[in-house]
Amino acid sequence: MTVENVIIIGSGPAGFTAGLYTSRAQLKPLLLTGNEIGGQVALTYEIENYPGFPDGLPGPELVEKLQTQAERFGTRIEYDYVTEVDLQQHPFVVRTQNGQEYRTKSVIVSTGATPRKLQIPGELELTGRGVSYCATCDGFFFRNKEVVVVGGGDSALEEGLFLTRFASKVTIVHRRDELRASKIMRKRALENEKIEFIWDTVLASINAGENGAVASVTLKNVKTEELRDLPAEGVFIFIGHKPNGELFSGQLAMQDGYIVTNRTMHTNIPGVFAAGEIQDNHFRQVATSVGQGTMAAMETERFLAELEDKRYEEIKAEMAGA
Ligand code: NAP
Repeated sequence: MTVENVIIIGSGPAGFTAGLYTSRAQLKPLLLTGNEIGGQVALTYEIENYPGFPDGLPGPELVEKLQTQAERFGTRIEYDYVTEVDLQQHPFVVRTQNGQEYRTKSVIVSTGATPRKLQIPGELELTGRGVSYCATCDGFFFRNKEVVVVGGGDSALEEGLFLTRFASKVTIVHRRDELRASKIMRKRALENEKIEFIWDTVLASINAGENGAVASVTLKNVKTEELRDLPAEGVFIFIGHKPNGELFSGQLAMQDGYIVTNRTMHTNIPGVFAAGEIQDNHFRQVATSVGQGTMAAMETERFLAELEDKRYEEIKAEMAGA
C-alpha cells in the first residue's frame, strides 16, 4: 500500500495554504476536502480584511483562488469526508466516507468549525424553512421580508448588514446590552436605518405559520423574563462556532473541543499538526488561518526530513523527553 507523505484534512484557508506550501516543497500532499469545500469562507459574502485585496473579494472567489494556487504546485484534492483516523500507529491511518483507507507519514488537521445552534423549539424543524446560518446563501430569499438576526459578534453584524440588501427590516436580537463586535462593525450596524436592535433578549422559540415556514419568534427579555412574539419570516443565527474535532477526541490533546498545539502547530503526537480554527478559538481570521497553515506545512516538511534519518519511535521518544 502507498504511504502518503502528508494528508491534509479540511479545505478552508488553513488547509489550502498547507497544500500550497507542502506541494511547493515537492511533498505531493493529498487534501481531503470534507463536505463543505472552503469551509466558512465559502459562506462569507465579502472578505474585506484579507491583505493584498484592497477592494475586498467574495468568499467563494477567495476559496477558488486558494484551491487553484494549491493545485498549481501539485496538491491532489479529493472530495471526500474523513470518518476515522488512527494516530496511535505509524504510518497513520485515515479512512473516508468513500471507503478509502490511506496510510500517511504525517497529517495536517484543518477541519475548522461549524455554526453553533441555539437549541430552542422550532430551530431544527424550521432549518431551511426560514432558519438559516448563512446570510450569503439564503439572504436572497428574504427580499422585502422582515428577518431576525441572533448574536452580538462580528458575524451577526456583518451578516445582518448584508441582509439589509434584501430584507425590509433586520432586527438584531442580542442577549446583552453591549455588542461584542469590533468598533467598525458596531458603527456600521448602529447607523444602518434598516437595522433595529433588541437588547437583553434571547429567542425562546421559533414559530411556524400555516405554511410550515417561519412566521414569528418568541422573545424573552432576560432581565424581566417578559415574553413577546415578533413577526419574522427569516431567522439568521450567528452565535459562534463549534470546532470540528470529534474525529480526534481521545487521540489528540484537546481543550473545549479545540486541538491543543504549541506555537509551531505541533499537536501532542509527532507528525500530526493542526492549523486554523480547529486549534484557534481566539483570532479566527482568514489571515491567521493562512499563517497557521503555512507554519504547519513548514513543520511537516521538517518532520518528514527528520523521518528520513530516524525511526518514528525515536522522534516520538525525543519529543516525550523534551
Ligand atoms: P463571537 O464573536 O463568539 O460572537 C458570538 C455572539 O453570539 C456573541 O455576541 C454572544 O453573546 C452570542 N451568543 C453566544 N451564544 C448565544 C446563545 N446561546 N444565545 C444568544 N446569543 C449567544 O462569534 P462570531 O461573531 O462568529 O465571530 C467569531 C470570530 O470571528 C471573532 O473573533 C470575530 O471577530 C471574527 N469575525 C471577524 C469578521 C471580520 O473581521 N470581518 C467577521 C466575522 C467574524 P455574548 O456577546 O453575550 O457572549
